[in-house]
Amino acid sequence: MRCASLPSAAIRRGLPATDNLQRHAVYLWLDDCRPAPDGWVGVTTVVDAKLSLETGRVDRASLDHDLGACETCMDGMDVNQWLEAHNFRTMPHCKHVGTGYDLCVWMADTGHWPTEMPTVHSANRVGRKRMKAIIAKYFPRQR
Ligand SMILES: [Zn+2]
Repeated sequence: MRCASLPSAAIRRGLPATDNLQRHAVYLWLDDCRPAPDGWVGVTTVVDAKLSLETGRVDRASLDHDLGACETCMDGMDVNQWLEAHNFRTMPHCKHVGTGYDLCVWMADTGHWPTEMPTVHSANRVGRKRMKAIIAKYFPRQR
């Protein structure tokens, strides 16, 4: 009998919770500037959103599209300089930080969805539309 044969997810779930947020379902708020509403857990990067979803405890998720770019890709520019450099076509973003769209693709690929269908609160019309399309197509309705 080897304890190591237990799935790691089961081991994590069996560990004593360190606070209430870990014991109860998580409401996940992905945004790099808007603060998380009361009762929601705020994350600012796609990497942190993935870690949270991988716990299987996320009940709801509200997602932004544009999450900013890393320092290297901003190359000393501020947001206005970035916009000018990109002909005002895109908000700062880069493949290192990722976007809400990248997270939606990952959820569809891996099946790590929140219990409820995720909502999108981005003001980016095109980004919001692309995210909602993936969610509508791949979110599992039968559980
Ligand atoms: Zn970058």
